[in-house]
Amino acid sequence: GAGAKKPHFVLLSSPGIGHLIPVLELGKRLVTHHNAAVTVFVVASRSSQAETELTTEAAAAAGGAPGSGNFFNVVRLPPPDLSNVLDPAAAMVTRLCVVMRELIPAIRAAVQSLAVRPTGLVVDLFGTECFVVAEELGIAKYVLGTSNAWFTALTIQLPVLDGEVEGEYVDQKEPLEIPGCRSVRPDEVVDPMLDRKDQVYIEYRRMGVEFRKADGILINTWEDLEPTTLAALRNDDFFGRKVIQGDILAIGPLVRCPTRPSNPTSQDLFSWLDKQPNESVVYVCFGSGGNLSPEQQIELAHGLERSQQRFLWVVRRPTGVKDSAFFSSGKSEEDTKGIHHDLDSRYGLPVGFVERTRHVGLVVPEWSPQSEVLSHVAVGAFVCHGGWNSTLESVRSGVAMMMWPLYSEQRMNATLVAEELQLASRTETMPWRGVVGRDEVEGMIREVMVGEKGKGVRERVKAAQRSGEKALKEGGSSYKALEMVVKKSC
Ligand code: UDP
Repeated sequence: GAGAKKPHFVLLSSPGIGHLIPVLELGKRLVTHHNAAVTVFVVASRSSQAETELTTEAAAAAGGAPGSGNFFNVVRLPPPDLSNVLDPAAAMVTRLCVVMRELIPAIRAAVQSLAVRPTGLVVDLFGTECFVVAEELGIAKYVLGTSNAWFTALTIQLPVLDGEVEGEYVDQKEPLEIPGCRSVRPDEVVDPMLDRKDQVYIEYRRMGVEFRKADGILINTWEDLEPTTLAALRNDDFFGRKVIQGDILAIGPLVRCPTRPSNPTSQDLFSWLDKQPNESVVYVCFGSGGNLSPEQQIELAHGLERSQQRFLWVVRRPTGVKDSAFFSSGKSEEDTKGIHHDLDSRYGLPVGFVERTRHVGLVVPEWSPQSEVLSHVAVGAFVCHGGWNSTLESVRSGVAMMMWPLYSEQRMNATLVAEELQLASRTETMPWRGVVGRDEVEGMIREVMVGEKGKGVRERVKAAQRSGEKALKEGGSSYKALEMVVKKSC
């Protein structure tokens, strides 16, 4: 049973599937590998169907058999009323920060009413203002960086850059320096750095300051993937104080394990995948929030068709707003049930596209069980928007990527994955600047699927897959890092 000395972590996830997934995975690992008790606070959002499925699945996986003594509890917090505190046109990150700020009283009340007193609080990167709740209780506070170490380093460096750089970051002639790390090209800075007068910039800069106040920064990466950047983060001068063991913890890759879904739409999808040869299918999906312009949607469709490769494409109605699906995605099969006809016009595809490509392609409206799809033997490559969860899922399954960054920190992720780690290729045209034409799409896909470059990329992805597995195993670097967090809390 839950002994008196069992540490109890409260995990707080900000809205968005891309935050919820790593938080739940962290919770599962704390319970199943390190015998901790976990309470996860989830901020409910509109996409509650996918959220419910994810939390239910995590609870089942972590709960263990009755009598196992496992304690994994999920508490849903109703979203706060933002009508008087948020400009409806505010940037996504502003919205996330304001949601978490407005929820502090509710979180405080919920934490105080827990039957078992928590010993540590873990927030994701948008929840650092909730550290105050941990401070009031006198318990340890951690931040979970849901992206890579390079992004974390930029976040921590931002208050310094803010004092040094004049004018907009995107207009700089020279790359932005992060001591000890790969520098950041001005045009690949994260969205919150695009306009220094916007509230979102102020929020992001504040996050950079607050990261340093944590008792530990947990990062969804591992020692062998980003050794140089992790070493740079652990430098006293860079961090702005003496860095001790346990301050910067690489605990990844935290990825959702595939469980083959049983609902009817997914069955169709998997029976299609089952019929395709090994590593022959290009999977195309732009994360939970990604969206293309109408023109780009057409070019991508033609490029896929011309490549003559098999494909599985998760389509969204093109809006041209790059992150337009962020707060509403996670549509369940329920929502898309019955959408099997007229996909071309409904999703802005070229006239006759679905019919013409029927023998090689499958167009899936809105949402796919991605972790399961990527782990299927038929999938050979992934046109990936560079969201960090998607990237890690691809690595975990040993699938080569083609980076197609759209928003948030995805431009940096694409550079890290394609240029530094060489686990992917990417287009010459940067998708956030212009339309990637059909010839370029065709060329990129053929290069990875049948070209020489693809072979090297695939080999390196498989090596990264193995190194990630090793990090997570008992005694591996990520395993030991999390163990340290738990031991400190005992
Ligand atoms: N996802 C999914 N089906 C989809 C699209 C996304 O299951 O059709 C999942 C995906 O597997 C990943 C998460 O949603 O775990 C998206 O997180 P990521 O960090 O890749 O990108 P974001 O959506 O936050 O931009």
